[in-house]
Amino acid sequence: MTTELTRDDLLLSHAAGRLPAAIALAVDTHLALSGEARVRFATCLALGGVLLEEAEPEPLTPGAWERLERKLEREKALPRREPEPVDPRVPRPLRRLVPRGFDALPWRNLGPAQEVALPIGPPGYRARLLRLEAGRSVPRHTHEGHELTVVIEGGFTDVRGHHVRGDLVIADPSVEHRPVADRDGDCLCLVVTDAPLRLTGPIGRLLNPLFRI
Ligand code: ZN
Repeated sequence: MTTELTRDDLLLSHAAGRLPAAIALAVDTHLALSGEARVRFATCLALGGVLLEEAEPEPLTPGAWERLERKLEREKALPRREPEPVDPRVPRPLRRLVPRGFDALPWRNLGPAQEVALPIGPPGYRARLLRLEAGRSVPRHTHEGHELTVVIEGGFTDVRGHHVRGDLVIADPSVEHRPVADRDGDCLCLVVTDAPLRLTGPIGRLLNPLFRI
């Protein structure tokens, strides 16, 4: 028996800074592409602030405030480095991993789809970009753990409905699907998985005990 992982679970954990890098990348990409998600995340941040206020305050170590002030001063003095993106199609959270654009990546051909692995951890997580050709489908599959899919370009349809740019689709062992790309263009997605897992994977463990998974 497992409880379904929801987007709110992820946003709340992200607001608390508790997501592993690969999962945080998926959530950040979702936030970068979806205004609706950013509004929801702001609510989660506010809720997180309430939770923090209710927590016992940590006593400051001697000199902690002065150290923080010096650190902020140093950061203010540093020039802002925001390199011009080569490929404006790349959402901001992906630019460090895709610095020269999508087309420069070493795509691996899988027939109706191409994929490229992204070097991001921690171990046990897998992040990749998947490009599904217009009108083609991914073979029907289910999941040993969780699968987070963020649509970057185009759209696809599965048992959960039609998903478009910016959408975050969460699948787990209860979901069997055969995603089909829209006919009017290729569908490019970021896909993050935590398999191989049973019913409760790292995400579920991570969310405990705050969220029972
Ligand atoms: Zn899937």
